[in-house]
Amino acid sequence: SAKSRVTIVGSGNWGSVAAKLIASNTLELNSFHDEVRMWVFEEILPNGEKLTEVINRTNENVKYLPGIKLGRNVVADPNLENAVKDANMLVFVTSHQFMEGICKRIVGKIREDAEAISLIKGMEVKKEGPCMISSLISEQLGINCCVLMGANIANEIALEQFSEATIGYRKNKEIMEKWVQLFNTPYFIVSAVQDVEGVELCGTLKNVVAIAAGLVDGLDMGNNTKAAIMRIGLREMKALSKLLFPSVKDSTFFESCGVADLITTCFGGRNRKCAKAFARNGGKRSFDELEAEMLQGQKLQGVSTAKEVYEVLCHRGWLQLFPLFSTVHEICIGRLPPKAITKYFNHIPKY
Ligand code: NAD
Ligand code: 13P
Repeated sequence: SAKSRVTIVGSGNWGSVAAKLIASNTLELNSFHDEVRMWVFEEILPNGEKLTEVINRTNENVKYLPGIKLGRNVVADPNLENAVKDANMLVFVTSHQFMEGICKRIVGKIREDAEAISLIKGMEVKKEGPCMISSLISEQLGINCCVLMGANIANEIALEQFSEATIGYRKNKEIMEKWVQLFNTPYFIVSAVQDVEGVELCGTLKNVVAIAAGLVDGLDMGNNTKAAIMRIGLREMKALSKLLFPSVKDSTFFESCGVADLITTCFGGRNRKCAKAFARNGGKRSFDELEAEMLQGQKLQGVSTAKEVYEVLCHRGWLQLFPLFSTVHEICIGRLPPKAITKYFNHIPKY
């Protein structure tokens, strides 16, 4: 059969590492075209050059993943429509906030036989309720969409340090196997579970727990408190996932996308880092300000996800059931001080 063509939509820190992983595999495997196209949200660098031109000249994303060669077969393209038009395998990896706009721009401009996978940790909230990013992609573009999540701090995978990831798929095993082939390497071990919602909710909700972990780090509360936050957080992740989608499987929480991602993000992630600084400053400097100062263009997902989760909880009348999730949001918007993070745990709800 014809060779598959891969395009990556997004080129931040994780998007660039995904490009590196994929590009090493498309060179090796005959079933894929060597070239991997990467849509880049164009920026002018401080020296006046365009980011895409520098990526194509140096083979490095000097802004979001400096010091790492992506592979010569990665081609940066600033034109979204052009980047997606020939691909039958679309990898979405942007901040979740941008996905609705991106879908609007490419609807009707992709191949009819295109398959998608989302590496995006986040959700949208609509009038009808929460909408996971893979569903947004599926519904807006009329294509199937798998997800890939896991304990995957991008900078560590860029150095080829061993990690694992989980693909969530719906029905089609053949497509799932194709995605595994595209991502799996000796240092990045990918397994698959038939639970798209479970995998995606793990990746999404752990970012809220990571904010809580950063707050207790910033308050110097110690290891026991942080372990308690992670336990209570994991419990809320599981309870909310199952309330929203009864099909979610318990076993998914033991995959890389579940407990392992929670651990790595609560120790080494950007959400944790900024939340720690937020607590250190007594909540006086906003997350937006800290994000801009500490992350150089990279984006936090946890603060907006906490807001989105809060809207869902309010709407369904579930606030009391999720003290950690709701307290994180109230702290992020300044309604409660950072030290309130452990205040509501005297009444841990029974599910
Ligand atoms: P990032 O936070 O490093 O970068 C943000 C990106 O957004 C940049 O490429 C920037 O150019 C782009 N951007 C800015 N404004 C834009 C706009 N208006 N429209 C479109 N794009 C715009 O990105 P990332 O780390 O690749 O994160 C993407 C997704 O991957 C997120 O959902 C994140 O949770 C997830 N993820 C990240 C990591 C990690 O370690 N970085 C690991 C696993 C999953
Ligand atoms: P942060 O966005 O908090 O850095 O988390 C990265 C991640 O998702 C690791 O798997």
